[in-house]
Amino acid sequence: MEKRIKELVSILNEYNRQYYVFDNPTVSDYEYDMLLRELEELEAKYPQFRDPASPTQRVGGEALKQFESYTHPVPLDSLQDVFSEEELYAFDGRVREVLDTPEYVVELKIDGLSVALEYEKGIFVRGATRGDGAVGEDVTANLKTIKTIPLSIENAPERLIVRGEVYMPYEVFLRLNEEREEREETPFKNPRNAAAGALRQLDSKIAAERGLDIIVFNLQLASESAPDTHSETLKWLSSFGFKVSPHRKTFTDIKDAYKEILNLGELRGTLPFQIDGAVVKVNNIKDRERLGRTAKFPKWAAAYKYPPEQKETVLEDIVIQVGRTGVLTPNAVLTPVYVAGVTVSRATLHNEDFIRDRDLMIGDTVVIQKAGDIIPEVVRVVKEKRPEGAIPYKMPEVCPVCGSPVFRIPDEAAIRCQNPDCPAQRSRNIIHFASRDAMDIEGLGPAVVEALIGEGLISDSADLYTLKKESIANIDRMGEKSAENLLSAIDASRERDLARVIFALGIRHVGQKTGKVLAKRFKTMDALMNATVDELKTVDDIGLTTAESIVNWFSLDHSQALIARLKENGVNMESLEAVTDTRFEGMTFVLTGALSRFTRDKASELIESLGGKVSSSVSKKTTYVVVGEDAGSKLRKAQELGIAILNEEEFITLSGMEV
Ligand code: NAD
Repeated sequence: MEKRIKELVSILNEYNRQYYVFDNPTVSDYEYDMLLRELEELEAKYPQFRDPASPTQRVGGEALKQFESYTHPVPLDSLQDVFSEEELYAFDGRVREVLDTPEYVVELKIDGLSVALEYEKGIFVRGATRGDGAVGEDVTANLKTIKTIPLSIENAPERLIVRGEVYMPYEVFLRLNEEREEREETPFKNPRNAAAGALRQLDSKIAAERGLDIIVFNLQLASESAPDTHSETLKWLSSFGFKVSPHRKTFTDIKDAYKEILNLGELRGTLPFQIDGAVVKVNNIKDRERLGRTAKFPKWAAAYKYPPEQKETVLEDIVIQVGRTGVLTPNAVLTPVYVAGVTVSRATLHNEDFIRDRDLMIGDTVVIQKAGDIIPEVVRVVKEKRPEGAIPYKMPEVCPVCGSPVFRIPDEAAIRCQNPDCPAQRSRNIIHFASRDAMDIEGLGPAVVEALIGEGLISDSADLYTLKKESIANIDRMGEKSAENLLSAIDASRERDLARVIFALGIRHVGQKTGKVLAKRFKTMDALMNATVDELKTVDDIGLTTAESIVNWFSLDHSQALIARLKENGVNMESLEAVTDTRFEGMTFVLTGALSRFTRDKASELIESLGGKVSSSVSKKTTYVVVGEDAGSKLRKAQELGIAILNEEEFITLSGMEV
């Protein structure tokens, strides 16, 4: 037994390290909980073999050195776990040894990261992670980026400490993972780890981009009297502007509390955030004091943990989806089955190796579950149920969409179609081009893009700018009004900043942030197109892979033609950030004759940097004609049309340049 105890201590400590220090769990929480439970039972039976370094003896993880450590004035306890109806009733039994008629509150157990928020005279002064319960990390700056944390509260007690769970809403989690996959970075395993990673960013800007939220579930300390019960306390905290535990109900009979726990379990996967259980707490604060705590847990609360819901279903087929970057992803088509609140009929099989390692065949019965309650995944095959006619799967050798040969790049699990004209990549490229973080064209979602491609109206993003109202209005359910709206949204996108245009092109490894960095550095699309790998590598955050990917992309004829057509159609190709002085906005200049202080190009650059346009011919739309030595026909035309004429000195004065 001693050997098994030692083994469990060492395995669990390593799991803890991965989970708490690196925010990167290597096993599921349920597996972890079951091993911990085994260790607790062995230690109880053989106390002589208990190891002081055992994970049963401590809570959570140690504070990271990068942050100031902070000693919590009131410790942030963990909770005792219960895994079954019987264990819940046993908890009730222990409570009833002290209290005659306990009242319980049942609430959601949000799977995030516990923090304490401290207010002095109504001002948010400090926030810290739980750490090991006694000492946490001061992450005030990052917490301030969470919009639902009030920075100041009115009529608050002199001193107030509340405890809450910081989490990443599913919506944000899914979006961030999509972006990470696009940049070919490892996706976050689940929202809890993504949230923990975000909160422990040294750069608050990154934390802010991660869209965290918080739900407050406990009053830790108040310098003046607070309500007598937990439910009233939460109402009180809510009146200060805190977002508090939703779905909370009170019960006097533990059997009813159990029913509620099951009800909440049904909500999993339908809530906007991840939960991993329900918490049962004694409601009355004085009763809580009477019950007290063990070294690790309060005796007045228990966390009912839901096991990961697994279901068996049949793998009916494997279909290939070709992604925007050309990666062929096998997807399982499953006999629909209800798991964690939703019907599942598809699950990603990631790549060829995933299918081979699990020995999946079409027709197999498979076990599926939802990772982090949200992403359906195939856990394993039930080999005993394999039917006679099960068919082994082989990845296609040509792209199922365009028929070009596909390649497996050495050292990569992914198989790719490398034809940039592949229609699958085409529609995904246009959808990406129009998306909110790229060109932000409202109303141009996947369905409309597919319809426009289907009607032969567009085949790449530059075609969007040539669309006519009449042809769009004929598209299914599109009507004249929506066509007009779509056209004006497309028109508005012509003015987007260069950073968005670069990101919108869908170059591999160039995400939103890289788009911004490149726009800032190169200022124009032309400059970026001419940049070499070496030049690109000198830019912050750009490594060799990204630099090569950018240069390769711009070297393709297809890419150059696309940029040229976007330009022709009036899409902005310059960094707008550079334009701070916009005195020439809305003005069109024509330059004629030889200027003594500038070359033509320099004068044009100056006009454009001040928001103006340069044209080569004089028309009624011309605002000014700038005249140098030996001006000829353009000067005459300007005089005929009565257009204002500037000599070089007047132009310089108008531009605000030092003379
Ligand atoms: P816990 O998850 O069992 O429960 C305590 C936590 O619940 C509290 O700290 C609090 O932050 C949170 N909570 C959320 N909503 C709450 C509410 N309404 N009321 C009260 N508390 C609420 O304990 P823990 O110490 O935070 O974490 C241990 C758990 O972490 C393990 O049981 C395991 O599931 C997981 N873990 C997993 C691995 C792994 O490798 N997969 C490793 C270590 C820990």
